[in-house]
Amino acid sequence: MSSSETFQKAARRAPASDGSLIIPEPQPAPPEREAESLDVWGFRDTHFDVSENGHVIIRGNRYELSGKELPRFLPWVREVLEVNLDPREIHAPRYPTAIAEPTLSSELNDALRGFLSTGQIDTNGETRMRHGHGHTQEEMYAIKYTQLGRVPDVVVYPESEEQVAKLVETAKAHNATLVPYGGGTNVTDALRCFPNERRSIISVDMRRMNRILWIDRQNMLACIQAGAVGRHIMAELRKYGVTMGHEPDSVEFSTLGGWIATNASGMKKNKYGNIEDLVLDVNVATAAGTLERSSCSPRESVGMDLRRLIFGSEGTLGIVTSAIVKIFPLPEAQEYGSVLFPSFEAGFKFMYELTREATPPASVRLVDNLQFQFGLALKPKSGGLGKLKSRIERFFVTRVKGFQPDKMVACTLVFEGTREEVQEQQKAVYRIAIRHGGMKAGSENGRRGYQLTYSIAYIRDFLMNYYIIAESFETSVSWSDALALCDNVKRRLQKEYSDRNLPGKPFVTARVTQVYRTGVCIYFYFGFYYKGISNPQEIYLELENAARDEILNSGGSLSHHHGVGKLRRAFLPRIMSPTALQWKRDLKKTLDPGNLFGAGNQDLDIR
Ligand SMILES: Cc1cc2nc3c(=O)[nH]c(=O)nc-3n(C[C@H](O)[C@H](O)[C@H](O)COP(=O)(O)OP(=O)(O)OC[C@H]3O[C@@H](n4cnc5c(N)ncnc54)[C@H](O)[C@@H]3O)c2cc1C
Repeated sequence: MSSSETFQKAARRAPASDGSLIIPEPQPAPPEREAESLDVWGFRDTHFDVSENGHVIIRGNRYELSGKELPRFLPWVREVLEVNLDPREIHAPRYPTAIAEPTLSSELNDALRGFLSTGQIDTNGETRMRHGHGHTQEEMYAIKYTQLGRVPDVVVYPESEEQVAKLVETAKAHNATLVPYGGGTNVTDALRCFPNERRSIISVDMRRMNRILWIDRQNMLACIQAGAVGRHIMAELRKYGVTMGHEPDSVEFSTLGGWIATNASGMKKNKYGNIEDLVLDVNVATAAGTLERSSCSPRESVGMDLRRLIFGSEGTLGIVTSAIVKIFPLPEAQEYGSVLFPSFEAGFKFMYELTREATPPASVRLVDNLQFQFGLALKPKSGGLGKLKSRIERFFVTRVKGFQPDKMVACTLVFEGTREEVQEQQKAVYRIAIRHGGMKAGSENGRRGYQLTYSIAYIRDFLMNYYIIAESFETSVSWSDALALCDNVKRRLQKEYSDRNLPGKPFVTARVTQVYRTGVCIYFYFGFYYKGISNPQEIYLELENAARDEILNSGGSLSHHHGVGKLRRAFLPRIMSPTALQWKRDLKKTLDPGNLFGAGNQDLDIR
């Protein structure tokens, strides 16, 4: 009997036997997916703008801040960057910059048309361009002001595992390369094409494989297709009273397949876990056939765990087509909270003790003083009672409590669970916070902090119109090294910046976004004003690399959740021994000898 005959494929169905298995109705392709901007982050109906009054405003009505004027924002930007930013001086985007003609042989084209419908094949220039980048500052700058370079030659939209398998066969037969595409939200140049790739590049956009195939309420599992976008997964599961609990800040646009391929982390990981804790099984179309297993058990000891190879594979080993994930009942209670601390150090100590003495809430985030001020600068204009209330609050915090405006920081919290769990956690959190000089700042500020995350994602592209380039990067680091790492990175960036005689001051800020018993994830924002500089994206990269060097020198990891892609691959030899790197390359060569999955992320460009 051959191994394919003994393999019990059918058993991969959900194990529930008591009638609690739900097969949701297939959802039509979500129309909102088409409503995403191609040239900037987010939905087409939302963007930052400057109002007739000269104030920053968020257009549209999707978010809480939408339609509101933010009069403090521009003055604050001028103050922090020490530049005379004039909203009438616009660095007008030239999107779309040059897009190379597709290289697609008629044989390959015919072969694709043999099993895909016309609507599943797209060679439109802007679509191809969008599939050749994520959201790094360099990429966003390139599509507006310079050139992205090589982009995929064709974008295809498979609708089933069978079609994905046929894509693999077709690409092999026609010497093409496949690059899986989820939501295109990565920030590591993971989708960027090599300029010297001679083969046709087929971008495999998974958006039509977006179904929740089944929900097993008895065993709390769900099988979901890899192209499902986070916000749809949340909305669909919610209908059945359950959640996956994975909420990266990009949840509106990133996909299950992308999360697995980048080893993502969500803001509520304290309660639900990171992606690797949540995914029990994956189906993957590889160059050698389908990687799948006959069963999905709670935990196993069955030799080397091949599923682990797929986490963080960044499109280099195959296409994740579906995954079995853990689900949880929707929390009975959800409460937001916030605490002010007199200093970052005080807030940091609070977080440390929280991981020692209590169960941290689903999410706990600590911003430094500059980021705290950033949040204040994004407060809408308030008049009458609102203004009075803010004045009284400010008076109380600074005069009565003695917090210094240029030192104080904020911690935002999300509690989820049963009512009792939430109450217990709240008691513990605030008890520890008060011990560290913390002052409760209310649930409304906490809620606002989290909601702000979604609007803030739009700011970077808006500011680029006014000669400001900015981006985030992150790391994880032990508790003992974390504070020094923050200081070192900020100091290094400031020094590198002034050494280059760049205009004004850079914007460098940090927040702690995730806590573990062993350490934290630290997330930096860095930006500067670039008017008069011809290659800001290159200078940014140099500076970010300097920051990364400092991170590694200070004991931090290369990345906590963004990944490596092409952006950080040069640093791999600093964190892995030559043998470790060779193992990775050997694995890639063995599993995909023709480099069919030629995204070339990490050090896996084996051409
Ligand atoms: C504003 C913003 C906020 C963010 N917040 C977070 C956050 O909180 N946490 C976090 O972890 N990340 C975050 N990110 C980074 C990004 O959202 C994640 O890396 C995300 O997991 C990428 O998913 P995607 O579906 O967009 O993948 P893409 O960007 O489309 O692809 C990323 C990589 O995965 C591969 N890939 C995609 N789908 C598949 C598949 N089905 N099979 C195999 N390979 C595949 C691609 O080839 C590529 O190499 C953020 C990014 C932005 C811009």
